[in-house]
Amino acid sequence: MAVKKFNRRTFIKAAAASGVVGSVPMYLSLADHKKVASEEPLKKVWSQCNGCASMCSKAVYSKNNRLWKVEGHPLHLKSGGRLCARGHGMAADVYNTSRVTQPMKRVGDTFEPISWEQAFSEIGEKLGKIVEEHKGDSVLWVEHGPRGKFYADILLDLIGSPNYCTHYSTCFTSKTNVWPKMVGDSLAADHENANYLLFVGRNFGGGIIPNGMNKIHKAIERGAKLVVVDPKYNEMAKIAHDWVPIRPGTDLAFYLGLAHTLISENLYDRNFVNRNVLGFSEFWEANKTASADWASEVTGIPADKIREIARDMAASAPKAILEPGWHGLNCHYVNSTQTAQMNVILNALVGNFYKIGGLYPGQDIPFGSVDRKMPPFKRKGERADGAGVKGKFPTVEPGRGIAQITPQLVEEGLIKAVFIYHYNPLRTAPNPEYQKKIKDAELVVVIPTDWNETAVHTAHYILPEDYYLERTETPRNNSGHLAHIYPQISIRAKALDPIHDTKPLREIVAGICEAMGYEGYFNFTIEDEVKAALSTVEGLTPERLYEEGTIEFTTHFMEGVPLEFKTSTKKINFKVPEYEANGFSGVPTWVPPATWPKEENEFRLIHGKQPWHSHSITANNPYLMAITKAYNGEWMWMNKVRADKLGIKNGDTVTVQSSVSTKQAKVKVTELVHPDCVWISNSYGNFSERQKDGYGVGVNFNDFLELQVEPMAGGTNSQEIIVKITKGVS
Ligand code: SF4
Repeated sequence: MAVKKFNRRTFIKAAAASGVVGSVPMYLSLADHKKVASEEPLKKVWSQCNGCASMCSKAVYSKNNRLWKVEGHPLHLKSGGRLCARGHGMAADVYNTSRVTQPMKRVGDTFEPISWEQAFSEIGEKLGKIVEEHKGDSVLWVEHGPRGKFYADILLDLIGSPNYCTHYSTCFTSKTNVWPKMVGDSLAADHENANYLLFVGRNFGGGIIPNGMNKIHKAIERGAKLVVVDPKYNEMAKIAHDWVPIRPGTDLAFYLGLAHTLISENLYDRNFVNRNVLGFSEFWEANKTASADWASEVTGIPADKIREIARDMAASAPKAILEPGWHGLNCHYVNSTQTAQMNVILNALVGNFYKIGGLYPGQDIPFGSVDRKMPPFKRKGERADGAGVKGKFPTVEPGRGIAQITPQLVEEGLIKAVFIYHYNPLRTAPNPEYQKKIKDAELVVVIPTDWNETAVHTAHYILPEDYYLERTETPRNNSGHLAHIYPQISIRAKALDPIHDTKPLREIVAGICEAMGYEGYFNFTIEDEVKAALSTVEGLTPERLYEEGTIEFTTHFMEGVPLEFKTSTKKINFKVPEYEANGFSGVPTWVPPATWPKEENEFRLIHGKQPWHSHSITANNPYLMAITKAYNGEWMWMNKVRADKLGIKNGDTVTVQSSVSTKQAKVKVTELVHPDCVWISNSYGNFSERQKDGYGVGVNFNDFLELQVEPMAGGTNSQEIIVKITKGVS
């Protein structure tokens, strides 16, 4: 029996027809709901969580197209069967009242609902004119990335635009820039089999990977040592043997001190380095004075502790890991790219590449692609953001771009039309007031699921996408973050019919292209795409993948260093030729952060994740925000000694002022954060009034951050922020 929505009138009509009017209550009681629910068959579909990059495979159970519960897939590499709080909370957001329920058009300061036909026709016409007048180069597609790239590329190829951009410059851009140039691949750590685990600015308990924490627990139970270096006593520090607080911005000096100890004490893996590394002597020449004693002065970590960590790593090599990291350290400072380079160098010095208990690459299954009509060749101009362009940002990856400068490109007239997909730069990129200038483009189309800040403040048109539970996507490899010897693939299948007038991205881009007169480029369905993707995977049908959700293959990683690395030199490059050719130092050396706190009331503002939030994407979820409320999650952490000097007590309101803005925050006074900095979660400060649970809660580091571009990898320098803090509201 299906549960239908009854209003009072239809219920009376139905009850009268059955002759029971007056003899039953005018609404269904909880017991009635339970009865109806228990009679309804439970439907199970395998989807993938959208709460973070782990994309945990999950069973979505529904009754009568109503979400019932979600459960982790026991096989999935990232979850090991356990979903985190975000995974559960995000699923419920399918019913969040902040969802955009149909296409919208800006009219003055507000929005009017319009039909999809009207939206496509008006956007197609406007975009056509822009391309005619200013060429395709004036159009930018920016997204979280890279989920929409396949469809976005069809549009960009048709109009001749090179401007595809992801959010990565605000996330982990130094890492993705460095690893291909130095190693030829991105490698993941085999935490479970390591004997020594060093985590610097990386926190699997905050930016949760559920199975990552399981693997680390197993390693510790087996006798492995875990050391956490972080200005904040984070969730991983709670299970670590050692928490080593470090002066924020000096991780590069710490790494140089470790390398100096390994080399000067002859503790490094000389055989591995001789066989596989280029540029070792140049690196050593450039850093001979960067001793543990020197690093101690810079970092505030005792020199003996630096030496102890280096010696312990060497003693456990090659089953010793410096976790390659993610957001933390990889776009925070002007020295983030050198810091990422040092991560490669330290791992190579202990010879852990392609080793069980060390680092090895993801075991990916290659997918096929759908047979389709290809856009005719169109010559594309220079990228507007200068990524990969000589004389601008030649070493920044053009495949990722520099998202934070979108408003600047609009201001300079380089970009006339902006498409923003599954990305909210007004909340997650620097200086939101400046990001609002995106609205000044001639055409701004935002493709979100909810009324986020970017949709509200910049969109000329809002084209709402189906929620992730309402759509099928092509299969994905589960590699990354955690090393695993067996390849795995998972699929996100449509678990619920859309409850609003929304569409999948494929249909949205197709609608725009067709309105511009580009016919026939989307003559395939998502089922065609799934089938084509699996056409290269022997013996696996779409039906089986839908049935099982996640499949693990029996081919597996074989331990041992490959004969050659996938770099241009076929070796691990301690000296990066591409950096050197473009005027940068090829080997990393000490680069101090651009800013330092100096006055008694000055602090570096740093940020990180909390276990129950994923940046701004979860900050309007009622269940997750209830956890925030219970734990004062939006409060700013301040060291007790510094707080005492300023007369600030736990729970006080303070005024936080940077060169960009002044706002108020509540303070948590604690010994568990370095005295030089204050720490906030990166999830709060929502300012979209249409998000009732997130609106006005806390502040965000981006509120205080000036627009910057780190020149080698394009990062935002998101912890180069000095704030003055005064007690009270001023
Ligand atoms: S770790 Fe949590 S938020 Fe991330 S994909 Fe898995 S369940 Fe979702």
